[in-house]
Parts: sequence; C-alpha cells; structure tokens
Amino acid sequence: MSKTTSILFTAKRPDIVMEKGRGMNLWDTDGHKYLDFIGGWAVTSLGHCPDVMRNALLSQSKTLVNASPAFYNAPMLSFADLLTRLSGFDRVFFASSGAEANESAVKLARKYGAKQKNGAYEIITTINSFHGRTLAMMSASGKKIWESLFEPKVEGFIHVPYNDFEAVTAAVTDKTCAIMLEPVQGEGGVYPATTEYLTALRSLCDEKGILLIYDEIQTGIGRTGKMFAFEHSGMRPDIMTLAKGIGGGYPLSAMLTTAALDIFEPGDQGGSYCAQPLGMAVGEAVVTEIAEGGWVENAREMGDYLRELLGALGKELGKTADGTPYIRNIRGLGLLVAFDLPNANGADVVQYALTKGLLINAAQPGTIRFMPPLIASRNDMDAMIKILRHVLIKCCQPADAAT
Ligand SMILES: *Cc1c(COP(=O)(O)O)cnc(C)c1O
Repeated sequence: MSKTTSILFTAKRPDIVMEKGRGMNLWDTDGHKYLDFIGGWAVTSLGHCPDVMRNALLSQSKTLVNASPAFYNAPMLSFADLLTRLSGFDRVFFASSGAEANESAVKLARKYGAKQKNGAYEIITTINSFHGRTLAMMSASGKKIWESLFEPKVEGFIHVPYNDFEAVTAAVTDKTCAIMLEPVQGEGGVYPATTEYLTALRSLCDEKGILLIYDEIQTGIGRTGKMFAFEHSGMRPDIMTLAKGIGGGYPLSAMLTTAALDIFEPGDQGGSYCAQPLGMAVGEAVVTEIAEGGWVENAREMGDYLRELLGALGKELGKTADGTPYIRNIRGLGLLVAFDLPNANGADVVQYALTKGLLINAAQPGTIRFMPPLIASRNDMDAMIKILRHVLIKCCQPADAAT
C-alpha cells in the first residue's frame, strides 16, 4: 500500500488496509488476521458482519431506503417502540452519530431552559469527559488538549471534576439548565461514576429543576452488562443519548427522553438522515438480537471473566525491573474494561499488539482499554490474554532492563 493517499490527514494510522470482518476477527489486504478487542471502537456490538444485520440491510434496501425525514416510516415507529419499551423512556429522536445525538440533548436542555427556566442555558459537564467532535461537543467535552482548539468555543459549558458532588453543587447557578455526564467515562480511561454520586446528582437536579443527561453512547445497549448503564445505580436521567453499539457498526444514534420534555417546535431539530428506514431496520434488528440473544448477560459474564484473567496475569507477571506492577487498576463494567500500564507507552503496546494480531486501544497514554463485541466468548478471552501476556513482557520492561 502507498503511504501517501488521497485521504485528508486526521489521524496516524498503521500502514495496513482492512478488507473484511467476521465475528471477532478482521483481515487486512495482506491476509493477516486480527482478534478485535476494539470492536470498531465499541460499535460492532454483534461482531463484524452479523447475519441479522446483513439480512436487515438486504430486506429493507429492497423496500425503502429513505422516504425523507418529512414522513413517518414503518421501521422508525417499531424501533422507537422497542427502545421505549427497553428503557422506560417515552420519546425517541433518531440521528446518525453520537455527537449529533448529544447536540440534540443540549438543544433540548436549552429549549427547556428557554421555555421553563427563565432562559437558563448553562450545562455542567465533567473534566475528562468525551461527548463528540462537533464544535459544541468539543466545547462540552472536558478534554484538556482541546481547551485551546478551534476558538472561539461554544459558550455555556462548565467543567467540573467527575465523581465530585461538591464541585457540581458549587457550579450550579440560576443559569444552569442541565448536568451532562457519562455513567462510565469511556475515552477518559474507563472510570465509572459511583452510585452515591449519581444518587446525589439526581436529587440535586430534582430539587433545582435541572435536567440530568446521560451520554450512554459508549455504555448503552448492553456494553456494561446491563442494557443501559443507568440500571447499575437505578438513577434515571431525564435525557439519554445512544450511538455506537445501537447500530452494530451502521451509523445510527438516538436521544431518548420523557413525554414532559416533548417540547421541540418545528425547525428546532432534524436532518436528512434522521430516522431513515435503512438505519431504523438495522438498529431494530441489532437491538432485538442483543436483547433477546442473551448478549447483555454474556457481556456481564465475559467482562467478569476478562477482569479475572487480567488479575491472574498481573499476579503472574508481577513487577517490572523498576518495581511497578505490569497490570494495575483493573476496572470497568461488563465489556468496557481497562487497566493501567507501568509506563505511559500505551501507543507502543497497541502497535506491537497489532503486529501480533491483536487489536486493543490505549484510551490514555498509560491505559489499555478493551471494548470487544458483546458476543466475545471465553475462548476469545483466553486467546487475547495469551497475546497480551507476550506483548506486555516485550513492551513493559523499563528502558535500562530491556537489553
Ligand atoms: C464515541 C462517543 C461520542 C461520539 O460519538 P460519535 O458517533 O463518534 O459522534 C460521544 N460520547 C461518548 C461517550 C462516546 O463514547
């Protein structure tokens, strides 16, 4: 493959070209096989090219691809019913990407502020959060390295430390219309919110008439071993956003809310691809299979098994020559799992794992994250750990001990 392509540079990519995928595996154009513990970045929830998805795409593409957002279509209505039934919410808005679903949530919160809270528009978000890459979502996200990018920022986002209730309380003003957070910070390095924190946030929001928004784009649709991460604490948000796993790899997102917040007016929100039949049919097929195929339970069991294997591997490997454990701070829920490396060389670990046929992610420079398809089996976990063991031994010796 030529190193210069016509693709605009936005990210460093390895010098391979992916060609096909099936289940837990990807193959490149040279025929190399990869065990995929990135899962298309937590999107291929049923693995690569699952039959249910192919069948839905095929049959819907023979019937109707897009009738325009000006009309209802059949899969849109049935998919919305499925999501409300599973989640207990009353209303669904469909879009194509996670960032777009979050934009909808922010718009809805500002609409609520404008109509019912004297024009309140501020939204409190958390440090180290990730909410997407549109200009507003880059402003909403609490990513340090984005702070000076693409000025001027979209105004009205206040960032506070995660899992710190005092900090949120101190940030609330008359202008606050919502608090928005991930139930588990994913890109930030897999840090779950505590039940106490979420319980306190729920009470604060109820008391002050502030909306609670959960960005469940990474945690929703079975990823954490529950259909939605809010089920772990039982603390329901007023608005929830979903993307990634909801489409199984097809670009699809949703914002869910209550009947009381059905307050948009014509023109406020929409888009050419919102609730297009093809995506609706795929989403309905994928979510049905996840709900009825036992994959949420599988995610919970396999997540426990993965953390157990990581614990055992950490024990076996012990410490590097400079006394740091190879594997520290194993954490996560379901199949959203991470641990910390001895050093901040996650990029090298990821790169070397790739050459050994394993796809993993460094969510932070010193943090390895796993977000495999929810269909991962014990055999997949065992195979992954075997490669990881080799990779860690190779990559995690301190520089002076490497020779
Ligand atoms: C991936 C992600 C987003 C952005 O979704 P896109 O589909 O890439 O726009 C937003 N929030 C969270 C928590 C995510 O993990």
